[in-house]
Amino acid sequence: MRRLVIVSNRVADPSRGGASGGLAVSILDALRRRGGMWFGWNGEIVADEAEIVPACVKHDNCTLMTMPLTERDYREYYLGFSNEVLWPVHHYRLDLAHFTLEAAEGYRRVNARFAEKLSPIIHRSDLIWVHDYHLIPLGAGLRARGVGNEIGFFFHIPFPPPEVLSATPEHEWLMSSLLEYDLVGFQTTSDQANFCRFACDFMGGEMTAPDTLRVAGKSLKASVFPVGIDVESLVAMAQSPEADERVQRTRRQAEPGLTVIGVDRLDYSKGLPEKFRAFRRLLEMCPDKCKPASLIQIASPTRDDLEAYIDIRHELETLSGAINGQFGDFDWTPVRYIHRAVERDRLAALYRGSKIGLVTPLRDWMNLVAKEYVAALDEADPGVLILSRFAGAAEDL
Ligand code: UDP
Repeated sequence: MRRLVIVSNRVADPSRGGASGGLAVSILDALRRRGGMWFGWNGEIVADEAEIVPACVKHDNCTLMTMPLTERDYREYYLGFSNEVLWPVHHYRLDLAHFTLEAAEGYRRVNARFAEKLSPIIHRSDLIWVHDYHLIPLGAGLRARGVGNEIGFFFHIPFPPPEVLSATPEHEWLMSSLLEYDLVGFQTTSDQANFCRFACDFMGGEMTAPDTLRVAGKSLKASVFPVGIDVESLVAMAQSPEADERVQRTRRQAEPGLTVIGVDRLDYSKGLPEKFRAFRRLLEMCPDKCKPASLIQIASPTRDDLEAYIDIRHELETLSGAINGQFGDFDWTPVRYIHRAVERDRLAALYRGSKIGLVTPLRDWMNLVAKEYVAALDEADPGVLILSRFAGAAEDL
């Protein structure tokens, strides 16, 4: 079997419990089953570029090859271009994109360094699989260094319409970098259609088959691979004896009303202030029926060194305080807002104990919480999922 080489911004350490997010869980699963190499950032930050030396660790049949970033890389490549330009633009939020030449330069520099360190250790038969928006130009960097292998790229975030993408500086370079891959994978058909529309309308390409493009003398596939969840392990967590106890407790606390559950990273793409305002409007419109409905909102911290994330945190604290102050009672707290990460087994029980799953992002790649909520429910006494049409899960479910 050909060796699989996976490249992502961040590599998880399996010896420290490994994966924390959806991307890491699925990569580790694929690697454990098939064996191969995982290449990327180890999460450490050093002062100087001279200190960047890749380190190699073996774990069962996987090899992890990692290296640090410098403080400047972290600021420019990771925070600056990846999370202050590409993340907002791909979530249709041009208003939040903050472009600087230094950030774009940092993004180019780190991608070139990844290509430089990776290309000498690629075998001719390796299959290379690059993940997510931090590494869009990596394929082109590998090609420039003579790597002729098959390379696939997978987007874990939405792909915006050409009208949005074309308002981003560097969009032509980003798009032509993507053409260096043999296969580009998306979450939904609308993401794929946006990409193909850009390639055809703005770059003179044509579709030669439903998922095959010919652009600028190159042929590549653009296909849809909606990301899923491990249903079996989630059901096991939701049905465990500890979960039974937690479900009973959640239901007792809510009686005779109901619990509405929201679980999101504290990201502006998740529509959290909008959700709180909608809940407040509901309480205003029908106070008798809604009391004592409680919204439990878990908003796990993320990227809290960026201004847009600090602002949204303050907004949520203010809103939840105001709603509880206006509508709460001695025996009822309308909004329970929890700003920390909660373990997945606790989440599974919370999903099962809640009558409504409220998943209302303004724009989301897939939204695994929507799938997890449905998987955790009791078949005999299920709840209701309220799902925004702007999540990939709306198309997939
Ligand atoms: N999650 C978690 N603890 C938390 C919040 C979220 O374990 O406190 C998990 C959640 O169960 C889901 C993932 O993180 O598997 C979030 O994925 P989703 O697609 O909903 O959102 P993303 O964070 O990837 O934008």
